[in-house]
Amino acid sequence: MPAPSPPKPAKTLSAPQKALIKLGLKRDIDLALHLPLRYEDETRIVKLRDAREGDVAQIEATVTACEITLRPRRQLLVTVDDGSDTCVMRFFSFYPSHQKALAVGSRIRARGEVKGGFMGLTMMHPSFKAAGGNLAEALTPVYSTVAGLAQAYLRRAVITGLNHADLSETLPQGIDWPDRRGSWALRDALQFLHHPTPDVSLAALEDRSHQAWIRLKCEELLAQQLSQLTAKRERDLLRAPALKFKPDGLYGQLLAALPFGLTNAQQRVGHEIAQDLARHVPMHRLLQGDVGSGKTVVAALAAMLAVDAGWQCALMAPTEILATQHFAKLVGWLEPLGVKVAWLIGSQKKKERATMLALIESGEAALVVGTHAVIQEHVKFKNLALAVIDEQHRFGVAQRLALRSKMQAEGMEPHMLMMTATPIPRTLAMSYYADLDVSVIDELPPGRTPILTRVVSDHRRHEVVERIGAQLQEGRQVYWVCPLIEESEALDLTNATQTHADLSEALPGVMVGLLHSRMPVAEKKAVMDLFTRGQMGVLVSTTVIEVGVDVPNASLMVIEHAERFGLSQLHQLRGRVGRGAAASACVLLYGTPEGGRLSETARERLRAMVETNDGFEIARRDLEIRGPGEFLGARQSGAPLLRFADLDTDAHLLEWARALAPQMLDQHPQLAERHIHRWLGGKSEYLKA
Ligand code: ADP
Ligand code: MG
Repeated sequence: MPAPSPPKPAKTLSAPQKALIKLGLKRDIDLALHLPLRYEDETRIVKLRDAREGDVAQIEATVTACEITLRPRRQLLVTVDDGSDTCVMRFFSFYPSHQKALAVGSRIRARGEVKGGFMGLTMMHPSFKAAGGNLAEALTPVYSTVAGLAQAYLRRAVITGLNHADLSETLPQGIDWPDRRGSWALRDALQFLHHPTPDVSLAALEDRSHQAWIRLKCEELLAQQLSQLTAKRERDLLRAPALKFKPDGLYGQLLAALPFGLTNAQQRVGHEIAQDLARHVPMHRLLQGDVGSGKTVVAALAAMLAVDAGWQCALMAPTEILATQHFAKLVGWLEPLGVKVAWLIGSQKKKERATMLALIESGEAALVVGTHAVIQEHVKFKNLALAVIDEQHRFGVAQRLALRSKMQAEGMEPHMLMMTATPIPRTLAMSYYADLDVSVIDELPPGRTPILTRVVSDHRRHEVVERIGAQLQEGRQVYWVCPLIEESEALDLTNATQTHADLSEALPGVMVGLLHSRMPVAEKKAVMDLFTRGQMGVLVSTTVIEVGVDVPNASLMVIEHAERFGLSQLHQLRGRVGRGAAASACVLLYGTPEGGRLSETARERLRAMVETNDGFEIARRDLEIRGPGEFLGARQSGAPLLRFADLDTDAHLLEWARALAPQMLDQHPQLAERHIHRWLGGKSEYLKA
């Protein structure tokens, strides 16, 4: 009998090992796929005369002067001459050993960024060693790293990873590549990108247009498509109640009772949803439509399909104000048809809440509207079949899962309808949202006059106030949104309070309200009520103006310090007006820094708001400016973002991956699984939400 092996000593990791884990570099393959950010060329010696401003150059030269100066601050100044020109090297931190190595007459090899200037060429803190010795054979990779992890350590770790990782192909043979020139083998592409030969164009490497990069981007995009498609197919194996359309049911009755007819787009998406609901497979559909496109009524109609079939529906909204508005609107539409609507919000009185909980549990309430309160543990549905999430990007994965778990029936899942007013640009929809079915309302209800947007300097604020007066005279209402001050909520508030006082003074006899995030909920509601009922002329608010708030009589929106907002946010705010038939306007006030001018990008962004009212176009420009990370927000908490592929420049590669993924899953399931595992490791869990 073998002796029992002694307990293994607890592994203690060194600081760089911990740093590797922090970077997500746990497996050999993770290291192999950790590609350089850029390269340094240590393969040749450049003559100073030939070095271009801004280049990182490696030179060999003789020190002709070495001295410490104290002005403007203590520094070591070393002058070198390589026969073609001279260069001054500056060191702000230095040791006696520096002075020794850089003594007059020494021959050194130095590498640093060359700057030109009045005094001739300079290099700031170049790295240096004695001249001579071998030159590197390949470009030197520079990797993204974290504190405590030196480039040299990381480079060695990557080489080890490259040598040990399984780099065999996972892509099926004989597939068509997006580029006719054919593609590199994965192993070759990785070897090359980590250690490119010096004859290659640095530009093609750095802008990632080189063939080897293309190969890696294809791989990455394919992994994303495969994992999303897998999640979707797994979901398709689940069961949900089939909600069959009844021609003489509540659906038709609600349609007939509405004070308006549906737009073509609403009809189309209504049909798409109805088809999904009629199946035994849980729907997982994203409904996107610009602000004011009428998503609420589409959700209400979907709810009627559930109720007609004898099931319950829940509608969750991100804020109390929005939930309250939905509740009021839905009660107005549905109670005349005999459909009981319950609501749940955090600030509700205990007694009312108890009543609501009972209505929900007994099934008497067919529709439940509310905030996060809906997903709390003690909320029991009798038979939830459809869950609608409004402004879905404001919710996280956990909240969506919690809502889904409210389905009581064994082994079943509710249908999910997720709504968003932030249009998702096509490439994003095809990549990060590829596991969802998407419906788009691409048409506004008729009779809306487009919103006129103006960009106005804060110096002309008084003219804007005059304009408000005119709007009020016509019986209209006005929103005034105060600037976003990211560093300080308190400053936000001071500013809003001041504006509120100024406007109250400038507009005697007009009720001017103030809304900010620190107000007690009841007070917020009271203010919102006065505004909704038309008694309040002007509503000053910090950015709490809720996405989705609907007051058709409001026709002017003023946004202060508009240059501080994101484009999509501006578009959403602007969408609060232009909801009625009256001509509406949006004034984007911009502040200029003391004596300065608005930056060119800021101007360009504000100009985009003037040029287009199209939410898709704005979202596209926003994506361009901010990148997908911020755009995705809560949906992707913890999700791996694309590292290499760029949705803008690599859209054609995305198309390619999208076409290949289903084929590969069908014909080469094992390869597909290996591919996902290689690229995403354990990171694809989030997709299940
Ligand atoms: P959003 O898509 O931004 O959530 P809402 O659902 O709040 O938009 O709708 C905006 C306004 O348009 C509401 O007052 C709604 O009742 C109204 N509305 C919706 N559909 C139509 C339609 N087909 N014709 C006229 N008005 C409509
Ligand atoms: Mg809405």
